[in-house]
Amino acid sequence: MTVLDGASLAKRVRSNVQDAVRELQEVHGIMPRLDALLAGEDPASRVYVRKKREDCDEVGIDSHLHTFPDTVTQQDLRSQIETLNQTEACDGILVQLPLPEGLDEGRILEAVDPTKDADGFHPGNLGRLLSDRAGLTPATPTGILHLLEAYDVPLEGKHAVIVGRSNIVGKPLAALFLQRGVDATVTIAHSRTRPLEDVTRQADVLVVAAGKRDLVTADMVQEGAVVVDVGINRDPDGNLTGDVAYDEVLDVAGAITPVPGGVGPLTRAMLLVNVLRACCARRGVPVPDALLDVVPASLQG
Ligand code: NAD
Repeated sequence: MTVLDGASLAKRVRSNVQDAVRELQEVHGIMPRLDALLAGEDPASRVYVRKKREDCDEVGIDSHLHTFPDTVTQQDLRSQIETLNQTEACDGILVQLPLPEGLDEGRILEAVDPTKDADGFHPGNLGRLLSDRAGLTPATPTGILHLLEAYDVPLEGKHAVIVGRSNIVGKPLAALFLQRGVDATVTIAHSRTRPLEDVTRQADVLVVAAGKRDLVTADMVQEGAVVVDVGINRDPDGNLTGDVAYDEVLDVAGAITPVPGGVGPLTRAMLLVNVLRACCARRGVPVPDALLDVVPASLQG
């Protein structure tokens, strides 16, 4: 049984990003830049944005924060995004979700220039992914694909079952798994799937992104399956847990990601990769080899 160590892999990704940033600066005189928009007082969102900026500092990406009160209007946010769309030095724009109540998340995300869409949530980028012309792709699914590639987990012709159909994890991951060169057979399960265990038991690779603690137990997993736990929940003691009953599934799975230390760190690292991919594409410079090493092969076309 292999524990898929996302934390160590993420460290390697950050180190490669750092090398790539250095090359962009030394060879092309470019300073990659990310602008984050944070609206409202949600404490978790504040922590996430702070950590993302710390990651930027670590690898040498210039980061700027734009904060707004929870009374911010749709128009205020859109006009800040418009300004950043026109700002030559800005390579990536990130809108921290969730937005305060009353704001139309979809329309705000759609206002971001797709070439600067650091999160890969713009409908244009999601559409490109579905039409085999992938541009910037969401960080969590991209991180999962990189993790599976890094551990040589075979996907071609394998049955990948994804539990969860969100626009930021389940659906884009299904599209990534279906890409030419990845070639998995994909099933998406969700809250109306009955019975869930009949579907999960068919999985060679099982990805769980439901946000329900202990949703997947040992009896729901095929012997030897690779299990990727995306969920982030708190147990009654306040500890972080995933969606998979880790201790019992360990005995059945061939490989498994822990929570914490699995998908989470890779999600953070892949945001940095996206900023650099956006930077190179916008500014017409070749992607440094150090970065190509940490981008899934199917996205390098
Ligand atoms: P979401 O709430 O948008 O979607 C959850 C999905 O799970 C839905 O499609 C729903 O149909 C499905 N679902 C819910 N209950 C289910 C059940 N009982 N059986 C089967 N399917 C069920 O969530 P999301 O944004 O995709 O996030 C999912 C989880 O992953 C959350 O815990 C979130 O915090 C976590 N997450 C982690 C990372 C990371 O980096 N580790 C990144 C994004 C999301």
